[in-house]
Amino acid sequence: MNIYIDTEFNDFGGEMISLGMVDETGRDFYAVLNCQDPSPWVAANVIPVLGQPYASLRMLQQRLQAWLSAYRTVHIVADWPEDIAHFCRALITGPGMRLDTPPLTLEVRRDLNSEASAIPHNALEDARAIWSSAQKTTTEEGRP
Ligand SMILES: [Mg+2]
Repeated sequence: MNIYIDTEFNDFGGEMISLGMVDETGRDFYAVLNCQDPSPWVAANVIPVLGQPYASLRMLQQRLQAWLSAYRTVHIVADWPEDIAHFCRALITGPGMRLDTPPLTLEVRRDLNSEASAIPHNALEDARAIWSSAQKTTTEEGRP
């Protein structure tokens, strides 16, 4: 199953703040982490549109494992490499320990974007917009 992903994070190199994903049936995942020291840009543009109470990282990971377990295989699609980096980091629970996931592949596509997001910088709405841009690309280019 293709799953479109977006993350928000605390500026370049900063920690993940939110993780949004949506699959090709519209089934979605969204989780928010507490950002202790947001940059001014993040405080102005990301924090106000989080739209959900904070989870702990452990809670996010437990929910993520349960959500992913519904799939036989998972193909994560992003429009930006850092989204993949933050997702992969969330799969690691400790030294030598990881979430149990279905077989997983990862893809970064430069032809996708979240420009049509209903709530820019809300990771779930951005992920939905990336999914929508993928549908347009597929239609326009006639590719699967
Ligand atoms: Mg975003």
